[in-house]
Amino acid sequence: MQPDFPVGKPRPTAVNADRYEGVPILGLPDDPRVVLISTSERGSLGCDRRWMYGYGLGMKGAPSDAMTYGTAWHEVMEDVHRFLMHFTPPPSAGPTATPTPYEDSYLEACGLCFLTTTVSPDGVCPCCGSAGPNVGDGPLARIEARWRAEWAAGKSASDEGEEEEPDESIEQRVERLRRAAQGWLRVNGRVGLPGYDVVGVELAVACPVRSPGSIKPYAPELPLAFVSGGWRFARPDDPPASIRRVRWPVYWIGRVDAVFRSRTDGSLLVGEWKSSRDPSGYVRGITVDPQTYGYGAMLDHVRAHFGGGRVRGFLFDVASSVLQRDPETLQKGGLSKALNRTVPSWRFEAAVVARGEDPASPMYADHVCALREQKDPRLYVREPGGIGAVDLAAWHVETFAMAKRIAENRRNVVDAIDAGSVALLFPRQPVCRQPGGFCSYRGPCSSDGPDARRAFPVRQDPVWTDPALPLAAGSEPAAPPVTPSPEKEESWL
Ligand code: SF4
Repeated sequence: MQPDFPVGKPRPTAVNADRYEGVPILGLPDDPRVVLISTSERGSLGCDRRWMYGYGLGMKGAPSDAMTYGTAWHEVMEDVHRFLMHFTPPPSAGPTATPTPYEDSYLEACGLCFLTTTVSPDGVCPCCGSAGPNVGDGPLARIEARWRAEWAAGKSASDEGEEEEPDESIEQRVERLRRAAQGWLRVNGRVGLPGYDVVGVELAVACPVRSPGSIKPYAPELPLAFVSGGWRFARPDDPPASIRRVRWPVYWIGRVDAVFRSRTDGSLLVGEWKSSRDPSGYVRGITVDPQTYGYGAMLDHVRAHFGGGRVRGFLFDVASSVLQRDPETLQKGGLSKALNRTVPSWRFEAAVVARGEDPASPMYADHVCALREQKDPRLYVREPGGIGAVDLAAWHVETFAMAKRIAENRRNVVDAIDAGSVALLFPRQPVCRQPGGFCSYRGPCSSDGPDARRAFPVRQDPVWTDPALPLAAGSEPAAPPVTPSPEKEESWL
């Protein structure tokens, strides 16, 4: 008779992380018995309760409007850089050679398969996914289709984020994205970073976490539970018989937006794309953000893959998410020259040209100059920075400290079985109340219980698969573990 749960230690054949499933991860050992900790998981540690909902119980929170826009902005930048990577000139072309320019029209229809008939060994375009010589949709069309599908499916009850642009339709949001992308191409160029090749885009990388002074990866005790055909981190509702304790090495995992390699000395730069209402404010204090050094550390671990050049630093590339407007037409027929709205110089010039006039004429030249000085620089900010041995050493020590906290949280999740233990093991720290703070879990956080938790789909990350294990029907819960409502738990508190 087949046992309810497998006996013995977990022996998986593969590790899949939710956001990385099917994506090759550079830097991992061949043995799948590794524990993956992500940069975004570290970010959620600001509030233990938020970590518990998101990572401990696997409740998938809905993104805020700003996060949704930021994801789309990443997709546009990914398309641009995949294109540039594909058309990288050979080294023999010299240090100043540039790739084929990315044109505005490629935002609408895929430029890569428009310009080539064979885009990859398997014949599938890495930008749009179209097979053969078809010209697939560009990034804007793909994003619009996805937003429409999400809209039709209805927004999650957990989405309590502030509307970034109130009452904005999908068409208007796509247009906001289009104008931001057109401006980026105009300001930062269509051929990439001068003197550098794009050698990696949205690259999944990992590096081991080590305790200070040790050469072995950190391997804390962690509880795993059997699920259909594999294992995942244990949760409160898992039967004790399904749980195994393992000590597997911890690896830090993340996605590097872009890897740039110098055409002269082979050194590497980490590229990071962000969008913000205030790009200048975003880059202020970037040197205290460990994320950037973390990507540097992970890239350093896999640098042999890119020729072995040293990791020189990073390039933070922040674009404004504010709608770039056209000048208004005044009642007397002229164009408004107001400076209190976000009208970049290029949109003003285009509006002048559309009227059959010359932007360099005395009527417009001073205003165009004022826009170039006062408006344009606020829309796109690039901040380069160095990454040295001291930065990397500090990141490794801090990351070990974070990994210890996460491991302790993982062990505590199994015991978070009621309102009292949740309050004790995962106290709230309302980082959501800080300026710009956002948290998807305000509903269950203020009034926990079955209904509040069921509003969230459950994520799987990570699952260690083992084809030798039985597929246990119904072993994976369709909803997060349910803690009784606070009213019923008063005696605990
Ligand atoms: S709503 Fe605030 S206090 Fe509650 S889990 Fe989220 S960040 Fe923490």
